[in-house]
Amino acid sequence: MNQKPILYNLEPIDLAGHRFKVTMTITDPDPRGQRVALPAWIPGSYLIRDFARQIETIEARCGRKPVLLKKLDNHTWRADPCQSTLVITTIVYAWDLSVRSAHLDESHGFVNGTSVFLRAIGQENQPCLLDVSPPSAQAKDWKVYTSMPLAKARKSIKTSAIRSGFTRYEVANYDALVDHPIEMGSPLAARFKACGAEHELIFTGLIPNLDLQRITTDVRKICEAQIRFFDPYDQRAPFLDSATKYVFMTMVVGDGYGGLEHRASTALIASRKDLPTIGQSKAPAGYETFLGLISHEYFHTWHVKRIKPSAFAPYDLSRENHTRLLWIFEGFTSYYDDLMLLRSNVITKDAYLKLLAKQISTVWANTGRHKQSVAESSFDAWTRYYKQDENSPNAIVSYYTKGAIIALGLDLTIRNQSDNKHSLDDVMRLLWKRYGLDFYRGAQTGITENSFIKIVREATGVDVGDEVSRWAYGTDDVELKELLATQGIDLDWREPSQTPTMGVRTRKQADQLVLANVYEGQAAHKGGLSAQDVFVAIDGLRVEATPGALENILSGYKSGDQVEVHVFRRDELRAFYITLEKPMPSDCVLTIAGAQNNA
Ligand code: ZN
Repeated sequence: MNQKPILYNLEPIDLAGHRFKVTMTITDPDPRGQRVALPAWIPGSYLIRDFARQIETIEARCGRKPVLLKKLDNHTWRADPCQSTLVITTIVYAWDLSVRSAHLDESHGFVNGTSVFLRAIGQENQPCLLDVSPPSAQAKDWKVYTSMPLAKARKSIKTSAIRSGFTRYEVANYDALVDHPIEMGSPLAARFKACGAEHELIFTGLIPNLDLQRITTDVRKICEAQIRFFDPYDQRAPFLDSATKYVFMTMVVGDGYGGLEHRASTALIASRKDLPTIGQSKAPAGYETFLGLISHEYFHTWHVKRIKPSAFAPYDLSRENHTRLLWIFEGFTSYYDDLMLLRSNVITKDAYLKLLAKQISTVWANTGRHKQSVAESSFDAWTRYYKQDENSPNAIVSYYTKGAIIALGLDLTIRNQSDNKHSLDDVMRLLWKRYGLDFYRGAQTGITENSFIKIVREATGVDVGDEVSRWAYGTDDVELKELLATQGIDLDWREPSQTPTMGVRTRKQADQLVLANVYEGQAAHKGGLSAQDVFVAIDGLRVEATPGALENILSGYKSGDQVEVHVFRRDELRAFYITLEKPMPSDCVLTIAGAQNNA
């Protein structure tokens, strides 16, 4: 088999116009006509995104001669037959400020390989070399930050290029090429070691007085807790199979939240207000959320980037990859993310119970959980979870939040039935040993729907077949009150307030208050109101478009009172009569049995 690498060059050529120039050199193209394609989606975000629509121009040369490229579908091209070296050049527009694609301006550049690097079809397993070229002189203090390993043959490369990162990188195949996102610019950066392994934290965006030291201390604790969790004996960081360091790359914005996992890095978006600044005695409330996000994405380094559902081993980047197991991958990760904050002593037990209670409240809030199972929600992620609308709370369940509650339910079941000798931790470690540890060293098998229950039995001796079929494949609620009681935790439900309710969620739109969701079976639904109705007045009193406006008006009423509600539906004024209801006890409260309930 020929091992000629595919060579790529990435160059930010137009910062103001947000354009990268990307060339791809294929030494041995398919003589019948080489096909190339850009991924239709990015692993970790289960929606067809058609990244190829951001390719402004594409052209090919065979040796010195231009050759024709014919587009075959949304993201695939075929070059005319070429017996020499084929070079394909694209100009890619990069102005999507998200963790999923690419972004470029005079302050920084960010690239996911799935947005810019074409795949040579049939040569996906060839090694890839990537040259990252610096931008023009106006950004001469820029450096490159990525977990992608530097090329092995570096003799001819200047040390200054290696220091700035504008140099050559090398990976084993296309799958690796698109799994090491690249940040370039002059961000705030810090390095630390966790269990001896190199980690880098970078923050792009303006953040005056960011307390990088505090963040580094906390993140290191989280990383060490997770490395020791999965590998208590060797304490070896998982990413050392394909990189020399792990990179947390955070884009800081006014209001944003999100993350995407990769094999040796993660791209995050965080709100400025959630980050601690130097001199603050107490970190902002949202800092816990930021650390939870860090913990979540880092946990994915093991769980979903190496332990994978069989549908992702390997990924098919040209179409949807259906699996019924996202509740295990996103759900269990959502269970362990906060738990790892507790285990690394970054948060207190009280704070942990509050986070868990909030997660329980979220799951129990929506009736969609009685209609869709988390197995179905996983399978339909592409068309339902990632395409939510006003009716989603009434129609679907989240494989993240209910998946996390199932993880808790399984953890408690295993603890109870094994006299506290085993827990879900043993399952995670066996999954890691069996499926994750050697994933990038060639094993590349993922777990099937049947293998999970067997793994649980093997790791703990407990049969959770009935629980999995009821909670994950059926729509039963996890019997949390009973299960938590066996471990000395009381679960109670409280009304969020005394104010009677209509059972709606509102949002501000221009200077109007609009019904965002109408919850099935509650007062507004019974009285005929609909999502997207625009509030005008309640009992003749104007409803302002301010936060809490609706609650302010309703606080003057009792449950059982009937109110006349005027709304605009399209451009027609309508009146509805709504009988207000007592708020449901929808706030979960967890307390350690016997302890003073002061929540
Ligand atoms: Zn996740």
